[in-house]
Amino acid sequence: MPEGDTIYRAARTLHAALAGREVTRFESVLPQLARVDVAGRTIERVRSEGKNLLIDFSGDLHLHTHMRMHGTWHLYRPGERWRKRRSDMRIVIETEAWIAVGFNIPVAAFHDARSLARQEDLLQIGPDLLGESFDFDEALRRIRARGEREIADLLVNQRVVAGIGNEYKSEVLFLGRVNPFAPAANLTDDQIRELLRIARKLMLANVRKRTQGRVTTFSLDPSQSKYVYGRGGQPCRKCGTAISFAKQGPEARPTYWCPTCQPL
Ligand SMILES: [Zn+2]
Repeated sequence: MPEGDTIYRAARTLHAALAGREVTRFESVLPQLARVDVAGRTIERVRSEGKNLLIDFSGDLHLHTHMRMHGTWHLYRPGERWRKRRSDMRIVIETEAWIAVGFNIPVAAFHDARSLARQEDLLQIGPDLLGESFDFDEALRRIRARGEREIADLLVNQRVVAGIGNEYKSEVLFLGRVNPFAPAANLTDDQIRELLRIARKLMLANVRKRTQGRVTTFSLDPSQSKYVYGRGGQPCRKCGTAISFAKQGPEARPTYWCPTCQPL
């Protein structure tokens, strides 16, 4: 795991290259970063806080990343060959003079100043589903410690496991035949481990593939790429029941499920 001083040096180097420059292109394979418009904003500051690296953009947008075991940022000139594999890429921030590439970064989120201030526990991140190894026991322990909470909300809680967003959450629960609203305490250890295994398998497969867009069904047809996510009211691919949709939990996160395949 990179120590705080390594992160500090990385932040200083990124700051020297990027501060004051306009983002010409932003790319990320991390679903939670995909929906924010970053191009056109100015990079104001790059800084570290402990082992966290923060990039401040104009317009009160802050990118928080945590490196954990294998995460790293590289700087390249346009056209320069990357020194790591493209499949390790998680985030690309392009400016006219420099391209910053975040490799193997397991934890990343956008914040405004207010939500950033609430992130007091930035370091309390759960095991990384995209890591080279994954600590199933620790993830299970973190889920059991919050047993009264609904399983779908726990899967997207980065303090429980790092990496799952709303799409994977719904797909994983469908494949595991678990109802999103089930309290974790109602599930067996085997059920929870199976959900984590499915999540890791899907996420690793999507990071490794070369084509655009996330696929959980392993179908080559883009219109068949998901089982339930984004398919409210459409027939379940396994049983034909209309897929249900709800906003779940205190953050009103979108959840899709099949009421027949995933009974409560
Ligand atoms: Zn079904």
